[in-house]
Amino acid sequence: MKRRYLISNGTLGVTAAAVLSSCQSQTKPIDTGSLPSVRWKMQTSWPKSLDTIFGGAQTVCDRVSAMTGGKFTITPYAAGEIVPGLEVLDAVQQGTVECGHSPSYYYIGKNSALGFGTAMPFGLNAQQQNAWLYHGGGLEAMHKVYSDFNIISFPAGNTGTQMGGWFKQEVKSVNDLKGLKMRIPGLGGEVMSRLGVNVQVLPGGEIFLALDTGAIDAAEWVGPYDDEKLGLNKAASYYYYPGWWEPGATLDLQINKTAWAKLPKEYQAILQGAAMDANINMLSQYDAQNRIALQSLLKGGTKLIPYSEEILKAAQKVSFDLYAENASKNPSFKEVYDSWNKFRQEIVQWNSINELSYASFVAKSPN
Ligand code: CA
Repeated sequence: MKRRYLISNGTLGVTAAAVLSSCQSQTKPIDTGSLPSVRWKMQTSWPKSLDTIFGGAQTVCDRVSAMTGGKFTITPYAAGEIVPGLEVLDAVQQGTVECGHSPSYYYIGKNSALGFGTAMPFGLNAQQQNAWLYHGGGLEAMHKVYSDFNIISFPAGNTGTQMGGWFKQEVKSVNDLKGLKMRIPGLGGEVMSRLGVNVQVLPGGEIFLALDTGAIDAAEWVGPYDDEKLGLNKAASYYYYPGWWEPGATLDLQINKTAWAKLPKEYQAILQGAAMDANINMLSQYDAQNRIALQSLLKGGTKLIPYSEEILKAAQKVSFDLYAENASKNPSFKEVYDSWNKFRQEIVQWNSINELSYASFVAKSPN
């Protein structure tokens, strides 16, 4: 993918494609000639301990530096180092930092259409999300939404389908959800709220303490690898699946448009290519690590439980009712939703034929 992109970008493309086709450890920078030295800051929403998700930010920075011979460098900052993890978009918009690494759905209070950039409950998985963003009009749609904040964004990481969160007690029915205090952001949080949950939004680094002390009864983060690193398995025993609110969550590279416009076109192309590297690298890292962490959690006594059909169906109905309401209130949401929903219906039909039939057969009879 990256090779095709870079080849389409003129003179830079030939050199950069040759660089990318060689082994990463042998990467040689392009001849940056008279290109300027540029130093940027990147505020992320993540603690540095999460090498998967903070790693996506790091990948962008490392690749940009490697491809420019260190002439264009971006320094990533952990949540709270410059601004808090939930205020990355604001810092990028205001130019406090030139760019950020954050999920767009942290900011749905500003525009509900920002939810589409990350994940929608009962929406697209990672493969479908990438198809929508890169080849289904999704990235253009999100650029339009972000332009109100003087930001241009590129996908720069995906977690894959997430898990459905940690609970201190079993939740078998919608009734069991009522009154629970749960950390869950975004539109998933709005759906849970309508199902009676008392929703909390906390950055990743603050979840363990809240769950461990009983300040909250349940929390979701990402999946086995990250959740074990945060220690969530030590604070609650019941681990639900699937994470129906985040079937393939994208993390964005958010760039201040004024800073973007000042970059030479070669650096713009390199930055966009680096984001695509991070997007595919994070997803593969998550899948590779989660398979191992899952075994570790099971050995440690974590109880894996699927959400009941009753909860899933109720949550799905609430989700699509919420989309209809948002579409009636917010023209920006409606514009993205109409094209996204058509894409979703078509790709679900296609993937139920190819991906689902294959995956369900192999899962039932591995050999
Ligand atoms: Ca999550």
